[in-house]
Amino acid sequence: MMKKIELHWQILIALILAVIFGIYFKEYISWVSWMGVIFLRALKMIIIPLILSSIISGITNIGKAENIGRLGLKTMTYYLSTSMFAILTGLVLVNLFKPGIGADLNLSRKVDINAGTDSLGETLINVIPDNIFSALSSNGQMLSVIFFAMLFGFFITQIDKKPKKLLSGFFNAVFDVMMKLTLFIIKFTPIGIFGLVAEKVAQQDDLMALMQSMGLYMGVVLMALAFHAFVTLPLIARFVGKVNPWKQFNALRTPLITAFSTSSSSATLPLTMEAVEFNAGVSNKISSFTLPLGATINMDGTALYECVAVIFIAQAYGYDLSVIQQVIVVITALLASIGAAGIPMAGLVMITIILTAVGLPLEGVGLILAVDRILDMFRTTVNVWSDSCGASIIASSEGEDLKVGINT
Ligand code: ASP
Repeated sequence: MMKKIELHWQILIALILAVIFGIYFKEYISWVSWMGVIFLRALKMIIIPLILSSIISGITNIGKAENIGRLGLKTMTYYLSTSMFAILTGLVLVNLFKPGIGADLNLSRKVDINAGTDSLGETLINVIPDNIFSALSSNGQMLSVIFFAMLFGFFITQIDKKPKKLLSGFFNAVFDVMMKLTLFIIKFTPIGIFGLVAEKVAQQDDLMALMQSMGLYMGVVLMALAFHAFVTLPLIARFVGKVNPWKQFNALRTPLITAFSTSSSSATLPLTMEAVEFNAGVSNKISSFTLPLGATINMDGTALYECVAVIFIAQAYGYDLSVIQQVIVVITALLASIGAAGIPMAGLVMITIILTAVGLPLEGVGLILAVDRILDMFRTTVNVWSDSCGASIIASSEGEDLKVGINT
């Protein structure tokens, strides 16, 4: 029997075949370009229900832990601030290296920016939808959808026990279905990539330029991820949490390798919990509260990636983002990372939110799709690394005696 080839290898093979096809069979490109179109449509199809169910179920699950007040506050502070640091690292590097600028990517559609030229005040006002159903059915109002989902999730936690259980159960179930559906669509990535990349390559006069800018883009993402994982988080662990980063890393080796190879924080979660409890010595009370929450809402690597990717796309379309638009990118990248599910390529789906928020064409996703799965392995590892550091830091601040403490 033929052994199943893993998805990332399938994608690599598809990429190579697409380049060959794009170079040698230019005239037949319409035979394959539809595959990419269908794949992008399928991705767009799942955006709204995936975000809605992910955010609502995430928030109702935080609500369950409400009685742990102080712990909840510490956890949220850690999650939000580390994600913010990660985004800013990405923002600085992508503005410094400008991987998309000068990349003559032959983008067929010149951007007609209509959204995103609003002032910050207008943008904030528009976050409140005047009609949630039209926000749900229009492409440009993702922030309103997120806003409504957060409110809806929060108020589920405020109602009577019985309907609360019913609704949170319902949205958790919808979220499970959406994750399965997303994973199903993701299976077709190699075919989608083949169509999209073959078309890009065929349109490209200067293939080296395309390769170069993609290489630079990957380099910037990897560099920023490395900075966050090896500098920012260890510093926070050492000085805020009195946790020895090196010991922490050794304790977490297995889940980190698993995160890298599965590209899924959720799939890695059981291993993360085990390692944090048994190798790092964090109590079950803290690990069972922080880690499941972290696996869905604390995604430093994803947040950083979203920010770099969107600015790269803007640069490639020759569009200069204003300061306000960059602020919007930062805020939406944070929200998108919170809303992203802990499954492979969830971050890619969420990028569409940011693109619409600043008025860039969703087709921009096609640009970065080819290398998304490879970068996913790295960003997922950073996501899990940050979750685990958070658990140890919070445990240490609660006075727990850890095996990874600086004095042990
Ligand atoms: N794969 C990532 C995770 O599970 C999410 C993403 O696509 O960025 O953490």
